[in-house]
Amino acid sequence: MDKSDNSANSLFRNVYESRHPLVRHKLTLLRKSDTGVRRFQELVGELTTLLAYEALADLALAEKTVTTPLDQATGYVLAERVALVPILRAGLGMVDPIWSLLPGAQVGHIGLYRDEETLQPVEYYSKLPPTNQVDVCLLLDPMLATGGSAVAACNILKRQGMCRIKYLGLIAAPEGIARFHEVHPDVDMHIAAVDRCLNEFGYIVPGLGDAGDRLFGTRVDEASRIPNSSEGL
Ligand code: URA
Repeated sequence: MDKSDNSANSLFRNVYESRHPLVRHKLTLLRKSDTGVRRFQELVGELTTLLAYEALADLALAEKTVTTPLDQATGYVLAERVALVPILRAGLGMVDPIWSLLPGAQVGHIGLYRDEETLQPVEYYSKLPPTNQVDVCLLLDPMLATGGSAVAACNILKRQGMCRIKYLGLIAAPEGIARFHEVHPDVDMHIAAVDRCLNEFGYIVPGLGDAGDRLFGTRVDEASRIPNSSEGL
């Protein structure tokens, strides 16, 4: 991605909203309330691959000469080690597609819950790769609503000593972007779309609903299960 002409959100220098037609097309399918669980998982995977492709465009390379059947070819290998850190649970849906591209990546996990009284995110789990084995850390969470979880997760990454962090998400609310950028202005944000607003329940509008529920089939809305109803047969 050419960052100079793809800066999504003119308010923030390092917020990149993808303009790729495939991203727009697949995000539209993802949003639909009748997209079933299996297809939702596939689309999250496909979108994540496309976003990762853009987000990792600045990875450093080292020259490497290899022998082809005909001659020597000067090529390149990645010179930077990438770690993937999903925020539980919805971020899990974004791990495998990037891991397929980067099988050597280490995967950490961060678990946060919201304290009912303070409404602040509280860390209940974190297991991260050693900082000295990571050059670039991708923080994965499909939905950036208030920004509270992403900010807290980024605090955890920085506390551990991660220096170069990039956030990857599918849909962000303007409120979440502003909050995240205020606390972590050094972290690039790569997202598929910036939506209108948050509603009174903290959902992104128009959004896609609860990404975790839609990824893992825990929706209570039975109508949403119809497209998958034959899967277990
Ligand atoms: N998390 C979600 O899964 N969806 C939203 O709309 C907001 C937060």
